Amino acid sequence: MDRTVNSVEQSVILTSEWPTSGHLQQGDHRLKLEFQEDAAAYEGPTQKARIWTEGWVAQNLFCPNCGAASLGKLKNNVPAADFRCEGCAEQFELKSKNGGFGTRVVDGAFKTMRERVLANDNPNLLLLSYDLSTKDVRGLQIVPRHFFTLETLESRKPLSASARRAGWIGCNILLGKIPEAGRIHVIRDRAAVPKAHVLDLWRKTLFLREQAPAARGWLIDVMMCVEQLGRPNFSLDEVYEFVPHLQSIYPENRHVREKVRQQLQVLRDNGYLEFEARGRYRLTRSA
Ligand SMILES: [Zn+2]
Repeated sequence: MDRTVNSVEQSVILTSEWPTSGHLQQGDHRLKLEFQEDAAAYEGPTQKARIWTEGWVAQNLFCPNCGAASLGKLKNNVPAADFRCEGCAEQFELKSKNGGFGTRVVDGAFKTMRERVLANDNPNLLLLSYDLSTKDVRGLQIVPRHFFTLETLESRKPLSASARRAGWIGCNILLGKIPEAGRIHVIRDRAAVPKAHVLDLWRKTLFLREQAPAARGWLIDVMMCVEQLGRPNFSLDEVYEFVPHLQSIYPENRHVREKVRQQLQVLRDNGYLEFEARGRYRLTRSA
């Protein structure tokens, strides 16, 4: 067995050089990026990857919601949930991929996911990309559950008549419909993001949970428009340039400009952005 990976010690120690939020204890949280090989000595490649990635999360990942030091592994028969925080009961589903993720992630049954999203009962999503050749974690993003709407789910073709589960319909999660604010990096290019920063980014969008699914969809769409402007300061007129795009998403709506203003107001009320002057906005900076 190739042991060279063990000589590359890729653990990352978070030091005081990183920004902290001030009211969260960072401690000496340490993320080791390499997989524990021994646990998977006798399994096939797919099974090995699952054992590695699940083992890695159980040993290394903190809860982004309450900051608890670790997440508990759930039994394999719990549908669409792999981990649960003992402290705050948040659930997490793990998706792992060798290499990077594209614009879609294959998930479970479409009907189940749809019902869970409508009931605000879907799990948070962990997107872990790893490198099979070096047996380590390249990146980890968390998509908070409040970024899921029906628009982020895509129904797949029913399984063919010859399949064991003929007629079963799975779903894809459309990552392209989730704004950057909803893709919180914990590890990026093999470097750990400070825990305090992850917790800050998580808290920043929690207000979306209080919104009904339809209202949340509008807020997320406007967040994406603002992100596409690519700068912290922007004007109302610049956001209005996305009106034709938004109109194509909401063809029935006759008041898209008003809706845009309303969303910016809600985003301001919740501290996501600030009003600078009449028609001028600024994204609130993360700690
Ligand atoms: Zn928690």
